[in-house]
Amino acid sequence: MLVVMDARADRSAIDHVIDTIEKMGLKATPIPGAQRVAIGITGNRGTVDPTGLENLPGVLEIIPVSAPYKLVSREMREAKSIVSIGGVPVGGSKVVVVAGPCAVESEEQTLEIARRVAAAGATLFRGGAYKPRTSPYSFQGLGLAGLKILAKAREETGLPIVTEVLDTETAEEVAEYADCLQVGARNMQNFSLLKKVGRLRKPVLLKRGMSATIEEFLLSAEYILAEGNDQVVLCERGVRTFADHTRNTLDLSSIPAVQRISHLPIMADPSHGTGKRHKVLPLSRAAVAVGADGLLIEVHHKPETALSDGPQALLPEQFADLMNQVRAVAVVMGRSA
Ligand code: PEP
Ligand code: MN
Repeated sequence: MLVVMDARADRSAIDHVIDTIEKMGLKATPIPGAQRVAIGITGNRGTVDPTGLENLPGVLEIIPVSAPYKLVSREMREAKSIVSIGGVPVGGSKVVVVAGPCAVESEEQTLEIARRVAAAGATLFRGGAYKPRTSPYSFQGLGLAGLKILAKAREETGLPIVTEVLDTETAEEVAEYADCLQVGARNMQNFSLLKKVGRLRKPVLLKRGMSATIEEFLLSAEYILAEGNDQVVLCERGVRTFADHTRNTLDLSSIPAVQRISHLPIMADPSHGTGKRHKVLPLSRAAVAVGADGLLIEVHHKPETALSDGPQALLPEQFADLMNQVRAVAVVMGRSA
């Protein structure tokens, strides 16, 4: 349920409504808007009886929110949200490109790739220090040493860092170094991790689980907002289907589907979404054409020796070409890149 306050309602009227909601054993989340403040109510199992609220001073109207997700929905906040990642706005008119290797492998490898993607015009740098790997025998990431290398890359290029947080134990350590915490596909429904990043007050890049419905995806984002962190960017990274020409099926139709329901920005990841280098460029153009707010692209200067996801990594010069083509598509969409 959403309590919409009158445009003239003052702070004390708003506080009084919040207080009343909390006394009902529910959670109140103020949502400031251009004209007026709305207060989202969550924590209820069934419908909330509005009679105690509708006559309070300053209350304009009470809107029932029908969807299971509340804070992430357009019913709660009509305008698109803009999330700032280290000063880079995601969800505005500029299409944001997050680029970098799958994994931080060494300082030399990371800095080389960081320089090349920065020169080509990437806006954020990525690289995993903690890697979720299917096999326990695969490279698991450099951990803390990897985070320190990422901090060096930021120092040198000025690009804010997006890196994965694998578990609650290392979340605070990752948050110390990262500008944005990536929650990967395999962790999309790790509810204790979602709650943890919800309390960390750092932007979160939440990737869609490989078999998650849109409702499950948005409910996972809801966990983060329910803890008080509304700096969430969603990311479509492909789902499992019967297709065998591609690692995953990049579900680009999820982008307008999510945008219709939610105010949160959403990016596309054609690297994991296809798993094949030659498909990354065409799917990147398509993702911008369907309205993605950003792209996540894996780049490696020596993909044949990469410790993870080499087959889907673009060479730096291919990435520069991608940037040029994406810029052209962005212009058609009334945006820039
Ligand atoms: C990654 O971004 O390197 C990654 C592991 O992605 P996903 O969680 O989408 O598989
Ligand atoms: Mn990867």
